[in-house]
Amino acid sequence: TPEIRPLVAGNWKMNGTRSALPQIKAIAEGIEGPLGAKLDVLLCPPSTLLYVATALCDESPLLIGAQDCHQQVSGAHTGDVSAEMIADCFGTHVIVGHSERRKDHAETDHLVRAKAEAAHAAELTAIVCIGETGDERSAGQALDVLKRQLDGSLPDGLTAQNTVIAYEPVWAIGTGVTPTPDDVKAAHAFIRAELTSRFAEEGARTRILYGGSVNPRNAATLMAIDNVDGCLVGGASLKAEDFLAIYRVY
Ligand code: PEP
Repeated sequence: TPEIRPLVAGNWKMNGTRSALPQIKAIAEGIEGPLGAKLDVLLCPPSTLLYVATALCDESPLLIGAQDCHQQVSGAHTGDVSAEMIADCFGTHVIVGHSERRKDHAETDHLVRAKAEAAHAAELTAIVCIGETGDERSAGQALDVLKRQLDGSLPDGLTAQNTVIAYEPVWAIGTGVTPTPDDVKAAHAFIRAELTSRFAEEGARTRILYGGSVNPRNAATLMAIDNVDGCLVGGASLKAEDFLAIYRVY
């Protein structure tokens, strides 16, 4: 198996005003040093803070990304943000297909794929989120759901550079509950097999993050699982101290 550089990513969701900028600064300063050379660290604040965040992290290895983009380049889409606008703010990544967007905004796999393609066209890395609900897991359909989401949400142009997969079981997001290490291992092995079968070498090297209630206590266990190439962190990324503690498990 190829050596994959881990990615620790934070998703602030709809949290954070200018008063949170010292937290971003603290994260940026906290990842200076030798450990920072071993992995990538990304923070996705709300889009209102994107430009000021990248300006603040100008001299830092901390990467800044967005939480969503529109599928089209520009036009009459009131309230939406294009991939090019994110790139223009020096963002490097964009999350697409987060379960909260799939639910709150009825985003389909087809739409998520179009958003990932828009991200690629703007030279952003798309972090494509997939994951089953609690009901789907109870019904024994978890892997079927992941297959359908992978098939439907990933563009043909996927490379290990332009795409990251985030496996986020919906029932584990913001609940403090995580799957067992065996369940994480099985899901990530399944995703890896699907990626390799469709995208060959690029799929073998694509990062697969785990997300859902990652915190400083459980991160070491989760990050040690086969085919877990980092994490997507919601709640615990809001405090620099907690986010840095997760980063330090590497
Ligand atoms: C997320 O929303 O991507 C997430 C993983 O949230 P939390 O860490 O709060 O469960």
